[in-house]
Amino acid sequence: MEEVNKKIKELIVYARGHLDLEKADEIYLENILLGEFEESHPYNNEIDEEAINKLLVPDSIITPLTEYLEREKGLTNNEAERFITKIMGFLTPRPSAVNDKFEKLHKESPQKAADYLYNLSIWNNYIQKTKVDKNLLWEAKFPNNTLEISINLSKPEKNNKDIKKLLTVNLGEKYPKCLLCKENLGFYGNDSHPARENIRFVPLRLNNEEWFMQYSPYVYYDHHCIVLSHRHNNMHIDRPTLNALVDFVDYMPCFFIGSNADLPIVGGSILNHEHFQGGAHILPMLKANVLKEYYILDNVKVSKLDWYNTCILLETKDKNSLLNVAENILDTWKSYDDIDNNILHFTDEQHNTITPVVRKIDDTYKMYLILRNNRTNEKYPDGIFHAHPEYHMIKKEGIGLIEAMGLFILPARLVRQFKEIEDVYGLEDEKIVAKYPDLKDFLPMIKSLPGNNLKKEIEEYVNNTCRSILENVGVFKNTEKGTLGFNKFIEEVRVRYGKK
Ligand SMILES: [Zn+2]
Repeated sequence: MEEVNKKIKELIVYARGHLDLEKADEIYLENILLGEFEESHPYNNEIDEEAINKLLVPDSIITPLTEYLEREKGLTNNEAERFITKIMGFLTPRPSAVNDKFEKLHKESPQKAADYLYNLSIWNNYIQKTKVDKNLLWEAKFPNNTLEISINLSKPEKNNKDIKKLLTVNLGEKYPKCLLCKENLGFYGNDSHPARENIRFVPLRLNNEEWFMQYSPYVYYDHHCIVLSHRHNNMHIDRPTLNALVDFVDYMPCFFIGSNADLPIVGGSILNHEHFQGGAHILPMLKANVLKEYYILDNVKVSKLDWYNTCILLETKDKNSLLNVAENILDTWKSYDDIDNNILHFTDEQHNTITPVVRKIDDTYKMYLILRNNRTNEKYPDGIFHAHPEYHMIKKEGIGLIEAMGLFILPARLVRQFKEIEDVYGLEDEKIVAKYPDLKDFLPMIKSLPGNNLKKEIEEYVNNTCRSILENVGVFKNTEKGTLGFNKFIEEVRVRYGKK
């Protein structure tokens, strides 16, 4: 089939322009691709090279190939996509070559190195940019802060119970153990684990240990990177973690970096492999103002952020003092109780922990410590400081690092459900539920909408819900009682630091 030969030739031209394919490797790789597609001859007519060099993504070449594999070779869509991932892996430079180029560019500027790996990840289809660009994204403006809200159409929704289960499940011989293990590099994939022939990550040295930096295939924001430990080990928040975060911003000052908390409900979706998330985007919390400056400990300015949940900001040029003060706050918080504010650090298991985030602006480190607690009770079986039940139809997953910083990633089902709401608005409850059973949890929301401009009213409802969820997450509420509690805690931090 001539069309396949042509697409293979186009891929070779594309790889020359986008993926550093060397002239000397072209015949070699074209033959490998012909073999993979069971084609006997290369394409010998003219190719519009200029048009191919201008491509921002490989879709116009690989989508017809994917369709061909399904139509002519009887592959399922999953199988066809895995096949294409393998082909793109062949066309991507070997990990060693990527590492060398990254390191060389890093010496010129960390930003250049970051851009290189980012573009490579898009151009070799590891980040499927066309799919990502279909996600909905808008801003929710409030008097003091602006939240960012996105409906993610490509990532499946997880629930907290499954995430907790993963912590204790026996992985046995599963290989690679998880999506974040370094053994994903070049992995061929199967029905339960994605193909990763085209993933590339670069080595880092953080806190004297080996780590790697890759990009997230879901790209929640610009240059959304994931930093992963060389070993498959549970998440933990302690001084080594804080140290590794600070080392990262020394190496990549163009990025913020943060770690999810190490407990279910308040952590991210993967708790069983140590990893961080970072990137170039300035997330809403990073733009928030200081609400109150408290004191200075060893050249570290300690403030409370004007934010919906409880976030302490540390600012200093002194790395060692920063780690000392941060560790003291972490240790104080881990064993801190405040009955008036419903905070118990421990019942039958540990509840208090922290979500830390670090940035570096010129020579100044800014460390954000979000105080977290994952306790549940009868009234709030999913978490006292988690999204409350009346908001679960919008968001029921754990509020991890990204959301705690004000960028909400909402599930894809909402697009359909919001259309259904428009369809049944004004009907009686029974009729609504009869037509769309999963709108049952939306009935109070539907009742609250005036109905003059439904699209806008739904968006505003979502905006307010996201803000309320962040307030649910706050351990010391922005109320008189909460502020008194916070003041007491921050004083305890100072006293304990003085005793060291
Ligand atoms: Zn792992």
